[in-house]
Amino acid sequence: MAVYRGKYILKGLDRITPEMERDLDLAYEVCASYGDSFPCEMCGRCCHQPNIAVLPGEVDSLSAASGIPLDEFVAGHLRRSADGGFLLKKTRPCEFLGADGLCTIWKGRPEICRDFPYAVSMFMSRVYIAITDPRADIIDMISYMDGSWPCTAAIRGSIASKVEEARAVRSRDGAS
Ligand code: SF4
Ligand code: SF4
Repeated sequence: MAVYRGKYILKGLDRITPEMERDLDLAYEVCASYGDSFPCEMCGRCCHQPNIAVLPGEVDSLSAASGIPLDEFVAGHLRRSADGGFLLKKTRPCEFLGADGLCTIWKGRPEICRDFPYAVSMFMSRVYIAITDPRADIIDMISYMDGSWPCTAAIRGSIASKVEEARAVRSRDGAS
């Protein structure tokens, strides 16, 4: 099982070749480019997802941020995922979504919430394919994203040019 950047598990791969790592880095940079200027309107729609992952190293900080004692948090607020990790038990919406539509544990929210929706595996894997396959249309590939979310429009309006720039870098570096 290959692991990219120490946390993204690439199922079905034994190792990441240097060429693949270069392309993954390009896809990662496209996704990360949304991080600093991401047009999140704090609408809370993405907090209605069914699966909200919690990394083992986040359990303590989530317990502290929520004010729920650790034992109680682990026993009553987490469940095991199929791959042995943790998920929040109460979702759709997340139990930490306030009545005002804002996250009540914002400073201590899990990493998946910090990355959402541009850097998690589903989005980044599509960006990777679009960068490495000139026939791939990134707009078609992200059609699964909910058009009623404010961030979706912003991503759809900018992602194609970011993919084109990454393709140009890849081509300049000699990839076929
Ligand atoms: S759906 Fe998009 S705009 Fe709304 S809170 Fe989530 S990331 Fe922000
Ligand atoms: S932890 Fe906060 S940001 Fe994450 S899903 Fe729950 S309410 Fe939303």
